[in-house]
Amino acid sequence: MRKRKRIWALLLVWTMLFTSLGAVQTEAAAKSADQTMAVHFLDVGQGLSILVQSGGENLIYDGGDKETSSFVVSYLRKQNITTIDYLISSHYDSDHLAGLIGCLNAFDVKQVIGSDYTHDSKLYQSFMNAVKAEGVTVEHPEVGTEFEFGTGEFTVLSPETISKNDSNANSVAIKLENGENSFIFTGDAEHNSEEEMCDSKIDLDCDVLVPGHHGSATATTWDFLEETVPEYAVISCGAGNQYGHPDKDTMDKLQDMDIQVFRTDEQGTIVAVSDGTRIDWNTKPCNDYSAGDSGDTGTQPQSAAASAPQVQDTPAPAAEAQTQTASVWLSATGSKYHSIPDCGNMNPDNARQVSRADAEAQGYEACKKCF
Ligand SMILES: [Zn+2]
Ligand SMILES: [Zn+2]
Repeated sequence: MRKRKRIWALLLVWTMLFTSLGAVQTEAAAKSADQTMAVHFLDVGQGLSILVQSGGENLIYDGGDKETSSFVVSYLRKQNITTIDYLISSHYDSDHLAGLIGCLNAFDVKQVIGSDYTHDSKLYQSFMNAVKAEGVTVEHPEVGTEFEFGTGEFTVLSPETISKNDSNANSVAIKLENGENSFIFTGDAEHNSEEEMCDSKIDLDCDVLVPGHHGSATATTWDFLEETVPEYAVISCGAGNQYGHPDKDTMDKLQDMDIQVFRTDEQGTIVAVSDGTRIDWNTKPCNDYSAGDSGDTGTQPQSAAASAPQVQDTPAPAAEAQTQTASVWLSATGSKYHSIPDCGNMNPDNARQVSRADAEAQGYEACKKCF
């Protein structure tokens, strides 16, 4: 009888041991399942919109242009999203901003992050009104600020400085991390901004880079690529877009560095899922390094060659002339863009400088007098 009791006791101990071991194992499994971070690069044509989901939280970085705003909202609804924990506006150009207004109207938004400048467009005003209606304000976190998100975090990389007349240069860039995996989104940040990020001492090493400004030559310098050394690049641009995005300079660099390429213009919406150690994709990289069809106005000819020694010898005036065609002037009112800030009876004090591509994206046409 005593023996029997001992056997029962032993059995009990064994059962408890196995049950607790089992519990530990299930917990470990749950933890690794929990570490998932899904990054959706939405096909918003000529624009940018990225949805990130992790640990029950949602983040949206840019919302694409007006035409695709309802697509973005319905895409989020299909993921059963009701709350957006972080809504990040890189900058206030319509191809990034419009869809965010749709999101603000459709979902409960907890926190909004944006760049600290104002844009004189109706769209910007609607955005600010939608933010206000949500009962929140636009935060402008400093470079280096870290936010916990899902099973990971993100760090603000830019803007270090605010430019009064260059919307793109004010882009809020972030590095998103999940365990060992990381992603960098830079909006329409261009060379100067990339340089500041390189100087920031923040570790820019990443697995996935979204080349700035839709793959335009105004972004993705050699220096920036050497700091980020991504394994993958995701280009977000519209099929057959009128700007010739992505630019040949950018695509040549990606190819030179053997960076695998995904493109929304060819592959539609692309989804990357990180488990903290590896990244799985919903499709294979297309690795199409061909440039957009440039009946292109040539947003930034040759500037990519910043690291190519022979180009550094280019006389300064020539380089300056090139930069001037890349950016144009807009008057406070009017529908034309100008090569000079005081064309006709424009008030130069109210004129602002933007990239030519962006002026065109916002529907401005070249002034016949100065172009
Ligand atoms: Zn822009
Ligand atoms: Zn853009």
